[in-house]
Amino acid sequence: MSLPISSAQVVIQGAGPVGLACAIWLLENHPDLSIILLDKNPQQDEFLSSADDRGIAISEGSKQLLESIHAWVKEAPPIHYVHVSHRGHFGQTLMSKDDIGQNALGHIVRYRDIVIALRHQLRQMKPNCVNFVWAFEFSDSIELQQLSPDACLIHADGGLFHEQFAKDFHKDYGQSALVGSLEVSDVSPNMAWERFTEEGPIAILPHHHGPDFKNFVWCASKNTIEQLTQLEESEFVLKLQEALQMPIGKLKKVLHRKAYPLGLNIKKNIIVEREVWIGNAAQTLHPVAGQGLNLGLRDAYTLATALLSIYARPDPNTAQKLQETLLQYQKQRQRDRDATIRVTDLMASVFATNAFPFVIARGLALTALQWIPPLKNQLARQMMFGQR
Ligand SMILES: Cc1cc2nc3c(=O)[nH]c(=O)nc-3n(C[C@H](O)[C@H](O)[C@H](O)COP(=O)(O)OP(=O)(O)OC[C@H]3O[C@@H](n4cnc5c(N)ncnc54)[C@H](O)[C@@H]3O)c2cc1C
Repeated sequence: MSLPISSAQVVIQGAGPVGLACAIWLLENHPDLSIILLDKNPQQDEFLSSADDRGIAISEGSKQLLESIHAWVKEAPPIHYVHVSHRGHFGQTLMSKDDIGQNALGHIVRYRDIVIALRHQLRQMKPNCVNFVWAFEFSDSIELQQLSPDACLIHADGGLFHEQFAKDFHKDYGQSALVGSLEVSDVSPNMAWERFTEEGPIAILPHHHGPDFKNFVWCASKNTIEQLTQLEESEFVLKLQEALQMPIGKLKKVLHRKAYPLGLNIKKNIIVEREVWIGNAAQTLHPVAGQGLNLGLRDAYTLATALLSIYARPDPNTAQKLQETLLQYQKQRQRDRDATIRVTDLMASVFATNAFPFVIARGLALTALQWIPPLKNQLARQMMFGQR
């Protein structure tokens, strides 16, 4: 299919949750905008039924953003408490929704359900957006030179860490995350646990199938994860209980397991001329703090707001204004990106060392979080809302 690239005002490469949400924010406010969305995936949603089953922690801030575009997922169990501790060491903290006066600290939603909800919403809007082209099964790279001089090229083609080229700051943690579901009993339904071990964190999270199930994310060295993937189901459950070393209820059965290599891959300048990188295309993070998608949605929302200020009114100086606006956008996103990347990298690195000063420091940090409420509230607020 030949695409009208040279007449589009905005081209979005990549239709994961961040690219889809960005297209929706733009079209909701400016249905006439000429946008081309380059989607690697097929038009029908069937491929998603066997796709990414990962339970993603969505912050309260992201929930509000998704609700604003009618793309909130119904099967999204809330997290009321998060218990953070370090196996075999002192210090622990319990965060509660009541500490910060919210209905929930966050929600767990399957990756594929987020994508389905966003695709559904965009499909509903499409008949009223006459200049919107949604190109499926398309993954050729687009060059800025193919676009008109006042158009913007948005890269939202993030992908997973091991699928990406190295960007300006690239770090392989030597870890993978094993992700899956557990059948459980007598486990508090709206509670999440994050248990740090010498090899990496283990998270036990609420599940969309209700209180008899939990999601888990077990981060450890690539070798360990390889071995865990191959264990018989019953052996795996025993290993997980052993690794947690704390009573959270009965773990009965593991349902499926999938491994994801982990790393940090950061693009320093997210603007080059009229090209902009958002979501995982701008920064790919360790999942320890559950922040990658939350940060990406804030990128998409802020960028859409900035672009609307340019394209909402016809202007002979659009090309120049666009460059200024994009530089302003980069500045606006810097604090949130820096803070989220630093906290995530610190958590992934500091908890994975056994050097004496770090052991003391992280024990003190967890204790301080527990006993100094303003500190705990500040951290919870950054995790829940970030900065837009
Ligand atoms: C194990 C694990 C657990 C996680 N848990 C959390 C969590 O709890 N909370 C959280 O906020 N984040 C979490 N994340 C991170 C989150 O999954 C990502 O940050 C998020 O998916 C980024 O969305 P995106 O749309 O930018 O990129 P993606 O989801 O990677 O989507 C990019 C899309 O672009 C497509 N694409 C690639 N190349 C091209 C091309 N050339 N042309 C067109 N399309 C292309 C891809 O097929 C894909 O559909 C986790 C990640 C992992 C690995």
